[in-house]
Amino acid sequence: MIDLSDILNHLGEDRASYQGSVVPPIFQTSMFAFESVAKFRESLKDELNNPFYTRGHNPTTAILRKKLAALEGADDCLVFASGSAAIAAGVMVSVKQNDHVVCVQKPYSWTKQLLGTLLEKFGVASTFVDATDVAHIAAALQPNTRLIMLESPNSMTFEMQDLAAIATLAKRLNIRTLCDNSYASPLNQSPLALGIDMVAHSGTKYLNGHSDVVAGVLCASHSIIREVFQGPFMTLGAILPPFESWLMLRGMRTLRLRMRQVAESAQMIVAFLSAHPMVEHVYFPQSNAQQSLAAQQMSGAAGMLSIRVKTADFAGVERFCNALKRFLLACSWGGYESLAFPVCGLFSSENYSASEQTLPFNLVRLSIGLEEPELLIEDLAQALAQV
Ligand SMILES: *Cc1c(COP(=O)(O)O)cnc(C)c1O
Repeated sequence: MIDLSDILNHLGEDRASYQGSVVPPIFQTSMFAFESVAKFRESLKDELNNPFYTRGHNPTTAILRKKLAALEGADDCLVFASGSAAIAAGVMVSVKQNDHVVCVQKPYSWTKQLLGTLLEKFGVASTFVDATDVAHIAAALQPNTRLIMLESPNSMTFEMQDLAAIATLAKRLNIRTLCDNSYASPLNQSPLALGIDMVAHSGTKYLNGHSDVVAGVLCASHSIIREVFQGPFMTLGAILPPFESWLMLRGMRTLRLRMRQVAESAQMIVAFLSAHPMVEHVYFPQSNAQQSLAAQQMSGAAGMLSIRVKTADFAGVERFCNALKRFLLACSWGGYESLAFPVCGLFSSENYSASEQTLPFNLVRLSIGLEEPELLIEDLAQALAQV
């Protein structure tokens, strides 16, 4: 068992070197100075691990990297200006022109844009498959497939992939795997332990947890992290600045407490919504068709769920959303505050057409925050009465 309190409270911190300060200082500097050319040269030999220039290494950020790597059971970790930057770096370092990627059907929207549009321009092709069945991934592989991009559970409807089975398949064929682990958080799922090569997070969500930072995380072996560092990390330069690293360290002190509370509240809310006549369907990994897979590869629930409101038109969902008082209508998720994300807000009733690819217009995603669950249920009940 990992010693979570040691990781969150102590790992990577060197209090004696900053006068006993309990909280680490923000090393708000772009570069570091040396007493001699020899020391300058020594530091430059390993920019990933030594203070030289803040694009490569910063002591505040280094504490964060150590904690995140330990949480994921990884050798090392890099942090980025956003989750999207972290995912793009993990993908870009793994493919070259004329390579092929297999990706889950409904990944995070900008992951889809990266693979389906941006990298397509550079001669990297992608196939998107329903990856709830490993056989669909196997069937989509080509001789030039170099990467399998996973997101389990995904962030709107929570489809899962059998990570251990996919890792076994990929290793046999020497294909790299990357899993977006933002939903589960490192506390509820450890893809690397199941054989996955790289784990990415939107640190913006549960890891920071306070809705005041946009950040990304990529965890992997020493050798992959070196490759990423020498490649997209240093060339594209989408780094997490020291202040944001410090805010994230602060947010992570309460990671375990926050995850416990949102899981407990979400499970109460799922029970309430599942029995409600105005709710057509509840999406939640632990109560869906794939719940046995959830039990197999996740150690607990997180705090986000989706519902389909029982209504035939946009106006019904809009009445529900507009009536919510304790849930803020906003994108993103994973913070202290409860949020509702209305899919109908992505369309107008005129330009919406239902298909396999589009999410149902009556889908509303709920990110459960730290409010009393009874109050959230009361709010949902009065809003559902408005449908
Ligand atoms: C938000 C999100 C991302 C992107 O992260 P940013 O920090 O917003 O760039 C990636 N994956 C998932 C599942 C997300 O929810």
